[in-house]
Amino acid sequence: MDLTPGTETAAVIPGPATAYQDDIARYWDQEARPVNLRLGDVDGLYHHHYGIGDVEVDALGAAGDSEREKKVVAELHRLESAQADLLLDNLGQIPRDSMLVDAGCGRGGSMVMAHQRFGCRVEGLTLSAKQAEFANQRVRQLGFEKYVRSQVCNMLDMPFETGQAAASWNNESSMYVDLHDLFAEHARVLAVGGRYVTITGCWNPVYGQPSKWVSQINAHFECNIHSRREYLRAMADNRLVPNAVIDLTEATLPYWELRATSSLVTGIEEAFLSSYKDGSFQYLLIAADRV
Ligand code: SAH
Repeated sequence: MDLTPGTETAAVIPGPATAYQDDIARYWDQEARPVNLRLGDVDGLYHHHYGIGDVEVDALGAAGDSEREKKVVAELHRLESAQADLLLDNLGQIPRDSMLVDAGCGRGGSMVMAHQRFGCRVEGLTLSAKQAEFANQRVRQLGFEKYVRSQVCNMLDMPFETGQAAASWNNESSMYVDLHDLFAEHARVLAVGGRYVTITGCWNPVYGQPSKWVSQINAHFECNIHSRREYLRAMADNRLVPNAVIDLTEATLPYWELRATSSLVTGIEEAFLSSYKDGSFQYLLIAADRV
């Protein structure tokens, strides 16, 4: 299918359905924090997610270096792109003639990386018209518009045929929906044998219940963080069988430590660092096969 604007086959694109989704659409329409935009400006890949991996201290320059702020921004961006690379690593083999779904695609950074890696079609869904516009404009600048497209659409009601997608993912977007509804919809659009991957923060059932830090993160982002147990249960109930569960909590700490000392702080850094350290919150990748 040709994705050039104007040739879309979907007659109606389902947008936000509930009052909550309207609120979330508004939230992301208005979101323009430097921590997202300045990092994206580094190389044109705009992410709304966190980073993983060790900080290269040498890349930051010495204290007092006039370029230090710029170097910190570049380093944070390198870590957030490393996170997206890990998600794509876990999609497995993707033939060029495949279709991939980025559910909750934000400004499209992961979609562009997926197309660059696999050469295939990538369809993104977001509640925010501003984000979809931004992503599509960036895609046009790169000349990928025949392959990569973002649409305003509720990911619980995807505009795709049953079994159409070779793989699909949620990169930090599953905390806005009921997991049973979400995984039922991924299982519908995925081909049998297709791969689903999520990277997400989740509360740790070993801690007991959502900690005060987790509640603070929910209030900050107007979201509802699920537990690790809920993820695995909702997958099992929806024909998604985990093939890898990777705890990225240790790997994401350097990103947060660096961000907390930068000028890009948003005020939520303490909640992330404290909850990761007290064991109440985890940063997790789950890859599952659609059976
Ligand atoms: N995955 C992106 C963006 C994460 S931010 C990235 O890694 O950069 C969360 C995203 O989830 C936003 O784009 C928001 O619009 C989207 N989202 C939340 N609820 C959604 C829903 N019900 N349907 C589609 N997108 C949704």
